[in-house]
Formats: sequence, C-alpha cells, structure tokens
Amino acid sequence: MLDGGFTCPNRDGRVGRGGCTFCLCESFNPNYCRRHKSIRDQILAGKEFFKGKYHNMKYLAYFQAYSSTYAPLDVLSERYDEALADEDVVGLVVATRPDCLDDSVLSLLVSIRERGYSVGIELGCESFYDRTLSRVNRGHTSAESIAAIKLCHSYSIPVTVHLMIGLPGESRDDILAQADIINTLPVSSLKLHQLQILSGTAIAKEWTERPDEFLDFTFEDYAELIADFVCRLRSDIRIERYASSAPMDMLLAPRFGVKPSMVEKRIKVLLARK
Ligand code: SF4
Repeated sequence: MLDGGFTCPNRDGRVGRGGCTFCLCESFNPNYCRRHKSIRDQILAGKEFFKGKYHNMKYLAYFQAYSSTYAPLDVLSERYDEALADEDVVGLVVATRPDCLDDSVLSLLVSIRERGYSVGIELGCESFYDRTLSRVNRGHTSAESIAAIKLCHSYSIPVTVHLMIGLPGESRDDILAQADIINTLPVSSLKLHQLQILSGTAIAKEWTERPDEFLDFTFEDYAELIADFVCRLRSDIRIERYASSAPMDMLLAPRFGVKPSMVEKRIKVLLARK
C-alpha cells in the first residue's frame, strides 16, 4: 500500500469539505505507508514487511490513500513511474472516487499497461443509493459511479468496486438489492467492508445520537448477510475482501472480536451450506 501524497476533492473543497462522514484516513494506512516518505521508501519498507512471506514475491503498487487519480497528469505519471521503477513491482492498482476518473487518466493507465504492467482501478462507490451517498456526504451520485465503471470497462481496465455494508438508513433488503445493481455492470471484483464507526468521525456522533438508524450486527449477523449477498451476485465477480479491520483503539463499532480472516472463513462455511 502506498500513500502517493494525493488529496481528495471531498476534502479540499472542490466537491466538499470535511470528507465522507465515516472517513478517518489514518485508519487505513499501515505503518510503513506514510506520506512524508518517498514512494521509493514506502516500497522498500513494504517489501521488508512482506519479506519471507512467499518465495520470489512480486508486487502490485497499490496507491490506496485518498483519491489516487486526483492530481495533474504529469504528477500522476511521475508518482506511478516512481513505483514502477522497482524491479519487483509488476503493476499498479489505483484507488479513487468515481468523480476522479476521465479519459486522460485512463489513457495514462492504458499507456502503462502497454509497457507490460498490469493495471487496475479500485473504485469507492460505497453505496448505490443516492439518499445514502448524500447522507454520508460522499459528494458523488450513484449515476457517477455507474458511469465511471462503464468508462473503465471501455478501456478494458478491470474495476474493483468497494461497497460499504451497514451505512445508515439502509436495511438488510436494501443492502442485498445492491447485488442486483452490480450484476448489471461490468464489475470485475468487489471489496466489501462493514461500516466501521471510528472515534472522532462525524458518523460516530450520528451513531451515538441515533443508533436505531444503523444496523446493529454481530459477527454472525454480518457473515449471514454477506453470504446471502454473495449468493445473489453474478458468479464471475470475484470477492477480494469480505471485511475490514480498523485499529481497535479507533473502533467504536461493530466490534466483531475476530480478525477479517475469521469473518471470511465463517462466510465461506455459510456459502458452502447455502
Ligand atoms: S472520498 Fe475517500 S479520502 Fe475522500 S473523504 Fe471520502 S473516504 Fe475519505
């Protein structure tokens, strides 16, 4: 994971200020990935961290923090190239928002692919309901998410959609019905995240004041819900992530008490049964 030193239009004022109500960027960067370090240094630290896990490991440079396509093209090109300069990096994965993609960014990624690297986009859609997107201050619409997915597909760039499970005002049925929407779209993979209420965020205040507007799921409820969701999903869509884990000292809820790998294990047991 890399922090390319980018910002986000939902924080710098282009779209909004203050960001999404659930966002606490410190919660998703590992220690080796800090913006004061150069990309080269982050890669070396990341390789050191994973060293010995697998024999002859190769890496995809994952620009994860903030909106990693939100900068002038020459800046993007320079930062992506800095990552690709490492001999063990075989491609790029770029995380961004639906309103930060256009033909010029995708053409840049295609030109990188033509140099022999793998490229992929991780797209934070989070919900396909406009009422939810507006409530959590995402600053984009569901139509923009759909257009961005289709645009990536038109460049044959695989898209991994991020979807947040348990956003306020969404019922279990609402969540499941999003599988039907995703099934109509050229989505390659999905990363599912339970909404994590993190201390100090705007959503933590909302959750404290109106807890009944949030799904209150246990580890078992969540596993059941995701298993049902996956059963409803098109069979060629890969699931790259079933749950996430923020540092415990930041996490107010839900506190599953198990690692994401255990959540995944339980979901797979339920899927086999279903
Ligand atoms: S778009 Fe991403 S980085 Fe920007 S405020 Fe929302 S979650 Fe945070």
